[in-house]
Amino acid sequence: MTFTLLQERTIPEIASTAKLYRHDKTGARILSVLNNDENKVFGITFRTPPQSSNGIAHIMEHSVLCGSRKYPVKEPFVELIKGSLNTFLNAFTYPDKTCYPVATTNLKDFYNLIDVYLDAVLYPLIPEHTLQQEGWHYELENPDDPLVFKGVVFNEMKGALSSPDDLLGELSQQSLYPDTPYGLNSGGDPAIIPDLSYAEFKNFHETYYHPSNAYIYFYGDDPEPERLRILDEWLNAFEQKDVRSSLPLQPHWTAPKRIVQPYDSGDSDDAKAYITVNWLMPESTDPETTLSLSILSHILLATPASPLKKALLDSGLGEDVTGGYQEELRQGFFSAGMKGVQRGDLEKVENVIQTTLAKLARNGLDPETVAASINTIEFHLREQNTGRFPRGLFLMLNALTPWLYDADPLAGLAFEAPFKAVKNQAPGYFAGLIQKHLLDNPHKTTLHLIPDPGEGQRKEAAEAERLAQVKAQMTPKQIQKLIADVETLKLRQETPDSPEALATIPALKISDIDPKIKTIPIEIGQLGGAKLLTHDLPTNGILYLDLGFDLHPLPAELLPFIGLFGRVLLQMGTTTQDYVALTQRIGKSTGGIRPATLTATIRESRDSALYFFLRGKATTDKAQELLDILKDVLLSAKLDNRERFKQIVLEEKAGAEAGLIPGGHIVVKNRLSARFSEADWAAEQISGLENLFFLRKLAEEIDKDWSAVLGKLETLRRLLVNRAAMIVNVTLDSASLATLHPALAALIEAIPVESRKSNVKPAFDFRPSTKNEGLTIPAQVNYVGKGANLYALGYEPDGSVNVIRNYLGTTWLWEKVRVQGGAYGGFSTFDMTSGTFSFLSYRDPNVLATLENYDNTVKFLRDLELSESELTKTIIGTIGELDAYLLPDAKGWTSLVRHLTHYTDDIRQQIRDEVLSASVTDFKRFAEILAMVAEKGEVVVLGSADAIEKANKEREGLLDVKKVM
Ligand SMILES: [Zn+2]
Repeated sequence: MTFTLLQERTIPEIASTAKLYRHDKTGARILSVLNNDENKVFGITFRTPPQSSNGIAHIMEHSVLCGSRKYPVKEPFVELIKGSLNTFLNAFTYPDKTCYPVATTNLKDFYNLIDVYLDAVLYPLIPEHTLQQEGWHYELENPDDPLVFKGVVFNEMKGALSSPDDLLGELSQQSLYPDTPYGLNSGGDPAIIPDLSYAEFKNFHETYYHPSNAYIYFYGDDPEPERLRILDEWLNAFEQKDVRSSLPLQPHWTAPKRIVQPYDSGDSDDAKAYITVNWLMPESTDPETTLSLSILSHILLATPASPLKKALLDSGLGEDVTGGYQEELRQGFFSAGMKGVQRGDLEKVENVIQTTLAKLARNGLDPETVAASINTIEFHLREQNTGRFPRGLFLMLNALTPWLYDADPLAGLAFEAPFKAVKNQAPGYFAGLIQKHLLDNPHKTTLHLIPDPGEGQRKEAAEAERLAQVKAQMTPKQIQKLIADVETLKLRQETPDSPEALATIPALKISDIDPKIKTIPIEIGQLGGAKLLTHDLPTNGILYLDLGFDLHPLPAELLPFIGLFGRVLLQMGTTTQDYVALTQRIGKSTGGIRPATLTATIRESRDSALYFFLRGKATTDKAQELLDILKDVLLSAKLDNRERFKQIVLEEKAGAEAGLIPGGHIVVKNRLSARFSEADWAAEQISGLENLFFLRKLAEEIDKDWSAVLGKLETLRRLLVNRAAMIVNVTLDSASLATLHPALAALIEAIPVESRKSNVKPAFDFRPSTKNEGLTIPAQVNYVGKGANLYALGYEPDGSVNVIRNYLGTTWLWEKVRVQGGAYGGFSTFDMTSGTFSFLSYRDPNVLATLENYDNTVKFLRDLELSESELTKTIIGTIGELDAYLLPDAKGWTSLVRHLTHYTDDIRQQIRDEVLSASVTDFKRFAEILAMVAEKGEVVVLGSADAIEKANKEREGLLDVKKVM
């Protein structure tokens, strides 16, 4: 026997059989999950507790994917991204583990991906220059220049820690575990990353990346014998090894602690403080306990009916509530706090948390709120709707929580029994958990994160000082050597892989690809005067219903309200129910209702599809209740609760501000695109930076002139909720749909009709700025965008553009902007319907150098010699993107969007044909279009004031500066 079967169990709730094995020779642990899901998943995980905040585990995660024994190319990972049909391909570093998962629906692709990943983790090359590139190195071009630090993770973490929200989460966790690896930053602290030596780095791999420390996972419809055969082939080369990677337990405290930390608030005078209160939780190995704490967290903090969230918002002390239960650690933690608090009010917030919890423990929880939270969590567990994230990967992460701490991984998958146990608990159970785990728990911290305009400069000064000292101690000879080393690193990065090396990467052939597009069933009809689209798909007994309303009847000044309007309808109550009761009702009988907007250009027109949606789901036996709730909120939502509306506006504002740094590239993309089409202009008003400016003004207007605001909300509802402008999208099997039909018709007929000429859509009169913009935020990184509308430049739409974009993102832009430039990412986007093309960078230390790299794409394409195999690979990767794996609700939505934008199956087939037949000529032709982008494209940069000022000094007047934060 090569493998010993330790456990085998059928788990009906995930429609799978799970088998747990041990590899006899090495002790490697294997979890093999068998079912009929075609979206297969493989993952290998190592326990990698760090010993310092030098980012070693994170840098290793990046580095093993930069070349291995069988695949000696610069970045096998990128070659896979370029040329596989994967539905997921990435790696992640946690505070105690590093995971390498892959997913695909194509079996041959699956084995290819596994082979490259196993070779990467077990036999990486990881030479010193990989640490330099992915981790950190000194950069110097001229002997007289100051030294600077460069490196992908170095910059990635500078970006991550520039966001006060991310910093708050990180410090909240660290505060509770001073005696374990959880007290460190596993991603890496940029102030400590440069302490990492190559010897330590190599040693880390030798210690932890061994089969005896591995947790291997298979999931899906691939044959099991082959799983074991493949693994044995890989694992057999190793001997059993004693790897000491267990996570120690944090000893319990007898008294709470208080921590105050500054964050970089830029020069903003009104920057506010953050607070969290954090408690250590019991070990995460008992499924009943972790499930109970997850439900408790949902009860207390997840919805507008949640008593702790409500008490905090009602206190008016801050803009938004934060916190929840984090279970993916050996001992999890629970956190509750507020953002956007005046410094003098921090203690008051803590007091609200304490008194609210005490009151809840004493008087008990509202049984309706408890029932709603239990139903919501049960719905999600049964639906297993993980969106774009493969279901099998979600389950892998669930299994890893107990598995990593030497408990039963199957306990992380089988939720039926613990769920039943929790549901059968006596009333008062959750109030008892509050008493036991929060109020009576002395292992607690209070963290204050205080705005400090000097913090950013202090960090920069400390870094500059450190670099100056290093340089001062270098002899001229050493300086010359460093310059030469940097040169060598650059040269190595610029030298392409040899065709022989590239040929080692396993690839599919064009003949492995289905030449035909995948279609989604759609039936187009009318019901009660509204447009009705139905998608006959098996949904496992769940109704997915989208109700949409055309935005064109709105005056432009009301558009920005759309970003809030869903919450207005769903979270302010109705004329018969207050918002707490309404929230409980939604939670108790549905899988949730959420607002969405669609802003897309209609193909081959200048028109756009602009819609506001409410998207609901429920099991079919509760479909009537879902319809009743939708009717109530659309017809009788209560709009005149000023206090509640202000809470929503402040939460939205805080959310938009918190999203600026993590989503800076999206902010830039939306801002750029808004210049070129009505649809994207509308999106900017509804959800872009323009919306943030709107929310700030609105918050003041509520105080100054509430009746004017209320008047606008009422007008908005009257114009929007209109049967003549309504579209209904249903995803459900046809038999269930037939039963539902009369109830649906009744709902539609209840919606008022405001007639208008349906074919004449008044276009919005949008005149966006054409000036290049420099938008400043307190961050140590930038997001650089340059774009243009290609159709306006004379480009004829052709599917080959997708292939070219995919190629640029994995070659020129990857190498120039990320590998050499030190940004975390560099890529381009193209909207086939509007024609808008943008270059974008993510967490970028540069501005002008990146713009130059964008412009030089032209030369890169003009000089390009593309081999047949490279072209094929890129085509396959592009097909992988077009064939994204979709769950039933996503299929129904995608089909709706295609219908509304006239993206027919004929056009899709034509684009697929064009992708499959893309040639070098297409690349050359595209170079000439990009030459026009280089010349005429517009620029938007979001980033630090220093970087933007510096760019404006070098290229005078390039950017119109606007302060965002
Ligand atoms: Zn990373």
